[in-house]
Amino acid sequence: MIRDVLASLGLSSDPRVVFGSPSGGAACAVVNDPTTGRPLCSVRLDDEHSYARTITQSVEAFRRWREVPAPVRGQLVRAIGEEFRKRKAAIGAIITAEVGKITSEAVGEVQETIDIADFAVGLSRQLYGLTMPSERPGHAMREQWLPLGPVGVISAFNFPNAVWAWNAMIAAVCGDSVVWKPSLLAPLTALATNALAERVAAGMGHPGLFSLVMGTDDVIGERLIADARLPLISATGSCRMGRRVGQAVAARLGRSLLELGGNNAAIVHSDADLALASRAIVFAAVGTCGQRCTTTRRLIVHEKVADELVTRLSKAYGSIRIGNPAEEGTLVGPLIHPRAVEEFLAAVAAAKSQGGQVIVGGTRATVPSLAGNFVQPTIIRAPANNQLPIAMQETFAPILYVFTYRDPEEAIALQNSVSQGLSSAIFTSNASLAERFLSPAGTGSDCGLAYVNMGTSGAEIGGAFGGEKETGGGRESGSDSWKAYMRRQTCSINFSGKLELAQGIRFE
Ligand code: NAD
Repeated sequence: MIRDVLASLGLSSDPRVVFGSPSGGAACAVVNDPTTGRPLCSVRLDDEHSYARTITQSVEAFRRWREVPAPVRGQLVRAIGEEFRKRKAAIGAIITAEVGKITSEAVGEVQETIDIADFAVGLSRQLYGLTMPSERPGHAMREQWLPLGPVGVISAFNFPNAVWAWNAMIAAVCGDSVVWKPSLLAPLTALATNALAERVAAGMGHPGLFSLVMGTDDVIGERLIADARLPLISATGSCRMGRRVGQAVAARLGRSLLELGGNNAAIVHSDADLALASRAIVFAAVGTCGQRCTTTRRLIVHEKVADELVTRLSKAYGSIRIGNPAEEGTLVGPLIHPRAVEEFLAAVAAAKSQGGQVIVGGTRATVPSLAGNFVQPTIIRAPANNQLPIAMQETFAPILYVFTYRDPEEAIALQNSVSQGLSSAIFTSNASLAERFLSPAGTGSDCGLAYVNMGTSGAEIGGAFGGEKETGGGRESGSDSWKAYMRRQTCSINFSGKLELAQGIRFE
């Protein structure tokens, strides 16, 4: 089936995709189907020589591309967005096959790519700089934004299409070329995505604008982050990866944009609309089988409504269909690999040993005739003293830990008590409490994303996306995130015919 999808995208003869046993001695990675547990195919990996060729081409492409006026660059991005509109179902099918996302979420991910392309087209006419008054007579000052260079993009497995687009569509209108190192857990989506974009770029006279390097972290990843020809590395993945990438890029005084792990909480106050809250929490906690950076992992509920909310959630969890992500009606597909199942089981065992009570799930799930990595979405109640150390870390699986509180200040402190700071939410009908959560003094949620009466996952592309603390501080996607992909130049012009020094200094 994956063969047919690749063929429909004109990729059946891509030499990097190998069906059957690889020949020729080149290093390969097996692509496994998390739904069946069986291999889909293999992909050939880059080595130092092909890496070097790719980077050289990307540098050359950048030198040509930066000369193109930004609104004209926008037209190329528009054409890429159109291509993804036409190929939405096919790319979605590849995402479902290799990462196990249910069809509607996989297609929704491609929609994010289309949305960010639209956003970038508009942005291509709005890369505004400021003008500022000079303190010297007969002088003008202004700021302009210039293309930066080839941008290195490292992506996680769980958004194998959209994370590239958040970076690549914005980088392209900014005048940058893009070199993408995808996760080896999702290389087919990357091959297809990059091929569509590069086909459009080459067809419009800009070959090499979008390129792909695939390889292991030690051979290709480390080379990419150490490469001084890439002034910016935008890396999405775990905090462990971000620590390594951040240090390596800083060591060469490059720029990094880090989008790392989350440990997101939803606070539910006693006056919340529980029907709305429970629907939002179920999607945020079990969607993508708990494998979103913004997944709700901790629920902090007012003690007056805790039992009722947990009962509602348990009922909803009981009706969730776990199974083949390509089948209509399935809400939860598999985890990405068998190791993720082991990590899920280990977290459940740790929670129990720390006094947590499993309310729902906690075990593998069996799906008839499928041997994939299925688990039961799980709810675990913390002990009455709220001490549950395992909940302080991100386990990339559908486990929701439930804590209770009396005083909203206690809830906000609990929400902020983890080392990550990505997404947060409060459910309340009390406007003062909602504003307290969003306090402009910074004493409310300490996360990059803070929502009221909505779940923690499912960000829109128009806002700047990212998180604080160990989530890395990066911002991508909308708002003014584009500034990370450009270099700022402050220009001062003397049209007075006299030399005046700033700060009134006389030097004669
Ligand atoms: P991961 O950290 O294992 O891998 C992410 C990427 O980093 C992969 O492409 C991997 O090959 C690469 N990488 C790892 N070490 C590297 C090195 N030394 N040099 C260069 N590249 C290296 O993460 P994952 O399992 O693919 O994804 C899950 C994690 O990603 C979770 O922690 C999740 O929260 C996070 N995530 C964050 C965001 C966000 O926007 N904040 C979005 C998606 C996923």
